[in-house]
Parts: sequence; structure tokens; C-alpha cells
Amino acid sequence: MTSGEPSAENLNVLTSTQVVVKEALSRLGYGKEMYDLLKEPLRFLTVRIPVHMDDGSVNVFTGYRAQHNDAIGPTKGGIRFHPDVTEDEVKALSIWMSIKCGIANLPYGGGKGGVICDPREMSFKEQEQIARGYVRAISQIVGPTKDIPAPDVMTNSQVMAWMMDEYSRIREFDSPGFITGKPIVLGGSQGRDTSTARGVAICIREAAKVQNIDLKGSRVVVQGFGNAGSYLAKFMHDSGAKVIGISDAYGALHDENGLDIDSLLERRDSFGTVTKLFKNTISNQELLELNCDILVPAAIENQITQQNADRIQAKIVVEAANGPTTPDATKILTDKGVLLVPDVLGNAGGVIVSYFEWVQNNQGFYWTEKEVMERLEEVMMHSFETVYHTSQARTIDMRLAAYMVGLRRMAEAIELRGWV
Ligand code: GLU
Repeated sequence: MTSGEPSAENLNVLTSTQVVVKEALSRLGYGKEMYDLLKEPLRFLTVRIPVHMDDGSVNVFTGYRAQHNDAIGPTKGGIRFHPDVTEDEVKALSIWMSIKCGIANLPYGGGKGGVICDPREMSFKEQEQIARGYVRAISQIVGPTKDIPAPDVMTNSQVMAWMMDEYSRIREFDSPGFITGKPIVLGGSQGRDTSTARGVAICIREAAKVQNIDLKGSRVVVQGFGNAGSYLAKFMHDSGAKVIGISDAYGALHDENGLDIDSLLERRDSFGTVTKLFKNTISNQELLELNCDILVPAAIENQITQQNADRIQAKIVVEAANGPTTPDATKILTDKGVLLVPDVLGNAGGVIVSYFEWVQNNQGFYWTEKEVMERLEEVMMHSFETVYHTSQARTIDMRLAAYMVGLRRMAEAIELRGWV
């Protein structure tokens, strides 16, 4: 390797997460034992789900559930349906959930699940069988006081409804607190559907303040038009920012004068696909490199890497997706003076309102949308301030600061329980 040439980048989300976990724990003063316990989930289950397909064949799908650590309380985190789901990805996602819950001070550890499948190519009936089969397969290790699932990539409130129904049938009592992100009539919370995007918008507002950027008229690019990306584009558009680029898994749209977000929202399908309807598209890579003030990766992992980080022109990057920026790219962006708000803080709005949903289910007492939003604002603001101040006080990037803030309570609980 000649000098100046970038070294091979670690694109394995689990091993690259472990590097940051190790650094955060060591800065908090913890030794090898704590790292050995927290570098992998406490529990990891692999399941097989047979599905009778509409064409008469039987397909057997593979699914996973990871429970990172339950020293603080039950584990919590979404379930994704995606063809690229891997064991390491689900494990990393469960660690990120622990950190998210730690930052927001929620009484949970992290959990995560995934099924290797492509719901875009499956009928409703087939998706329902995957949802119910997955719950049957993991039912022994989940429950309202054990591990509480939620939506994630390509799962939605309908999938949560099937899962809640299946769990309630198995247990033989109504169990709304088993899962969050449900439809409102089945015990869902007001504001859960928009909560991830609301949290991202709060982070953008706070990040813009510290970077002295006026949001009115600012140029925003959003990668991904699923639950987080589409609502966020709408909020930014409504608050007077110019959304000049959006994308889905198949391509991206760019208009320097600002895209017509309302019409795109009307035309997207339930998985956030919209660019197929247009001829003049650009690639996702071109989208990320557009000249803009604020860039929001709201799709999948490893989008901003050592290969393209140098060409990112945004002044603020707020991660709405989980794991969109590699640690190497984080360093390149930070060195360039970009303020990067990491996923574990940026997208915590989703699990914060999931927590509110679970509290409401446990109490059988439901809040108004205004109450939910006020509480979300309070928790997000406090989370942003704590992480930002930690990064400033210690002169470290916000990702490392977030890991320190997020793991501190968990490590303390582990010590108090006498595990380490
Ligand atoms: N899947 C979301 C996340 O990654 C939400 C998890 C939840 O609500 O429990 O944060």
C-alpha cells in the first residue's frame, strides 16, 4: 500500500460498532470484562419460518432476534423484513438500540429482529404468515416485560397488528404491550408513525443552531423515502426549508428549486418507492454528494464510507437510518468540520414514542397527540444537549460521545447487579 492510499475499510457493522463500544467503555473507565459482556448480545435466536406461498409452494425463511442486554430492563427494538438481513447486522442493531435507550433514559436494553425476505415481492397473505410465524418462533423469549418488538425497515403498523394478534392468541390474553408501533385502534400511540422523523427534525433544528444555519431556505437532501425519510421531507418542506433531493432504493430525484414533496408523498407506495415514476433520475451516490446544507441518510447501512465521505458537501449530517455512516467516514466528515448527529441520537424519536406507547398500554390510559409531542420534545432536547455537551467537553465526535452517554447507565446497572 502506498502512503495516502486509504486502508481497507471495515464495512462489517458489528465489528466496526465494537471498536466504538470498546473506546467508549474504556473512556468511561471500564475494563475488558465489561467490553466482553457488551460486545455481543446476551442472547441470539435463529428461527426458521415456513410460508405457504400463493403459488402453492412452501418457502422456508430465516429470521433472527437479538437481545443485547437486559440489566436496565426488558430489551426493545424493531423487526426488519429485508433481503440483506444478516446475523451480524441484527446483532449490531441490538447494540445500537441499547445505546439509543441509554441516551434517552428509557428503562430498556436493546433488542432487534430481522427476517431475510423481500416484502415488496410478497402478497399481504404471505407477509402475514411471515409475521405470525416469526412471533410463534420467538414467543418464548419475548413479552411485555422481556423483549418488546416494533417496526423497522419494511415493516409497518399492519405487520405489528398481526404480530400482536398472534402473541395474544399464544398467551390467551390481550397483550398490547408486547409490541409497539401498532395501529391506534389496537393500542397504538398518537404520533408514533411520525415520531422518528419528528426526532430527526428536532436534531436538525438544534444542530442548525450550533452551526449557525438558518433553516428557512436551507437546502436539504433526504436519502430514503420510507417512514422516517418521507415524513422528514414533509416536515422540512413545511418549515420553509428547500428539499432539493430525495431517493428510494431504485434511484433519486433532484431539483435545485425544491421538490414538490406533497405530490411525491401521494405517489409513493407503502415501501417508499416513488422514483420509478420518473425519467430524470440520478443515482443514490450522486444524491449524497449534492451541494446542500443538511444531508439526512434515512435508508440503510454503509452509505457514507471512506470512498465518498470526502465528497459530501453538507454542513450537517443527521442520521435517520441506522448505521449509514462508517466509523472511517465519521472521522473524515468530522475532520472536515461537518457536524454529524449519529443514528443512536438522530433516530431515537421512534423508540422514545414506542416507550410512551408501552407505558400507555401498561396503564390502559391514553394520551393526546399534544401530550406525546411535548414529552418527545423534552426527551429529544435533553438527549441532544447531553450528547452535544459531552462531545464538546471531551473534544470527541458526537458518535463516540453518544456511545459514552448511552452505555454509561447500562454499565452501571451491570456493576450494581454484580454481573461484572
Ligand atoms: N426500529 C426503530 C429503531 O431502530 C424503533 C424501535 C422501537 O420503537 O422499539 O429505533
